[in-house]
Amino acid sequence: MLPAYCAFKKIKFHYDSPSKPMNKKNTMTPKKELVADWPALTRTFIRPENEAARSTLIKYMEQILFGLHDFLKTHVGFTEEISLKDLADRFTDSLISQNPEKKLADVITDLIEDIAPHAVNVASPYFVGHMTSAIPFFMVHLKTIVAALNQNVVKIETSKVVSVVEKRVLAKIHRLIYRKNDAFYNEHIQSTDTTLGCFTENGTLSNLTALWVARNTRFSPTNGFDGVEKEGLRAAYQAYGIERSVVLVSKRGHYSLNKAGGLLGIGNQNIVAVDVDEKNRIDLIALEKTIKALTKSPEKTAIWAIVGIAGTTETGSVDPLSKLGEICDRNRIHFHVDAAWGGPTLMSEKYSHLLSGIELADSVTIDGHKQFYMPMSCGMVYFKDPTIMDNVIYHANYVNRPGSVDLGIKSPSGSREANSLILDSALKIMGSRGYGLLIDHGIETARKFADEIDKRPDLQIITPPELNILTYRLCPFDLQEKLAGSDAEQAFSINEKLNDINRRIQRLQREAGNSFVSRTTLKAKHPTEQDIVVLRVVIMNPMTTIEILREIIDEQENIYKNTFA
Ligand SMILES: *Cc1c(COP(=O)(O)O)cnc(C)c1O
Repeated sequence: MLPAYCAFKKIKFHYDSPSKPMNKKNTMTPKKELVADWPALTRTFIRPENEAARSTLIKYMEQILFGLHDFLKTHVGFTEEISLKDLADRFTDSLISQNPEKKLADVITDLIEDIAPHAVNVASPYFVGHMTSAIPFFMVHLKTIVAALNQNVVKIETSKVVSVVEKRVLAKIHRLIYRKNDAFYNEHIQSTDTTLGCFTENGTLSNLTALWVARNTRFSPTNGFDGVEKEGLRAAYQAYGIERSVVLVSKRGHYSLNKAGGLLGIGNQNIVAVDVDEKNRIDLIALEKTIKALTKSPEKTAIWAIVGIAGTTETGSVDPLSKLGEICDRNRIHFHVDAAWGGPTLMSEKYSHLLSGIELADSVTIDGHKQFYMPMSCGMVYFKDPTIMDNVIYHANYVNRPGSVDLGIKSPSGSREANSLILDSALKIMGSRGYGLLIDHGIETARKFADEIDKRPDLQIITPPELNILTYRLCPFDLQEKLAGSDAEQAFSINEKLNDINRRIQRLQREAGNSFVSRTTLKAKHPTEQDIVVLRVVIMNPMTTIEILREIIDEQENIYKNTFA
């Protein structure tokens, strides 16, 4: 069975607004058949066809642009439960109609009245299960302008000043990470020869880019060898006397690194998972052992990179970055920090120290659509050495000529939207202190929530928050006591029972549609070392308060009482 569709009725409680059944024949569809001819096309290309169409567009666009959060509360994600299967059954026509089916105003009406109610209200303060959440209303304005200008930052000829703005915002974030001096930024901020980083589509591509650069740096051109980018891995191995390549990251590493292993030709099994300590941080002793074993291995192994995580996706843990930097420096290995989630913590005056050591990284991934609160999607990757991206340089004859500002020269992407305009503007509107306040709210609310969980006898914290992510589970007090005094076999079966309970609580809560937490599995400690199902909460929405979080765990406890007790 496919999971039932999850709606957020909490919003429906507060804001009673009609939700229309889907797929009912659109009443606005005119009787007259539409035709695609040249006059119709030219009209459609330029403007709404008449006053009525225009006022429909204004009606919705005004709500979206000037009342975004109310709009989301009243239009998104609150329908009666419909299974994904039933929804899928409504979208099975694969033929593109020859003539227009609908006019713009009707299409927009459909999107808002038929699609949005079945989308997920990620902006709800009760939606605390994922890294996708509410965004400030002005982000939609900025996104609209970016779409309107339709600049293509792959090259200067289609973006001009926008590429220059992009270089400036890259320097600003680079400075946040690396804190080099004025002279450094004066030299590089607008240099056409060097690059402080690049925008990508998401964290996945940023991690790929970092490892691509690490690979090409490791196997750069040498006597009789034109570099791995040109000649491929086999030739690189021959030139460097290598038989195997690996990347080391803790068990909490994001699976995008595994994708990168596949794409970069070493296979994802060579993204080697290193054990974590009690706090879900990479175990440095295990790491040193792994490095030693690989260096001594008869199979000559190149370690392309060691990845430190600044905010693991599952638990929000931060690896010991300073120590990792030291280890990489000592072993002359590329040090990448995956700060897709945690990077913006650097803007918090109170908590930036949690990321200390990040400045040692050769490369850093940060997502714009996570804690920069940008709309989907925006990734970035930064490099300590402004010349290191020369290892992935590409030129084409008609664009991206050597020495130009063309940003597509050193980037995995070709055509790309000008997301940098959004970030540049948002930084001006918020200031680093404004962003810092959001970060502080998340971290401090997560801590209060952990205290609240601690107070409740039937809940058990599994990973306390280091940043703004925590995991816990429902574990009735009597079972907690039993677990404490049980041998491995008993503990195993109690945990299995608890796994089932937590899986079902998460599902029932999601289906009830009042709120959403996610679930993941973590490894239990010795002696059982079995998979433990945990509930996961990510707090980034400034409208998520401790009172709301209490309601969420009240509901979980009630589900338990009504279903199991
Ligand atoms: C989210 C995340 C990613 C992947 O980012 P996408 O933008 O989803 O591609 C990588 N690493 C970490 C630590 C993340 O949290």
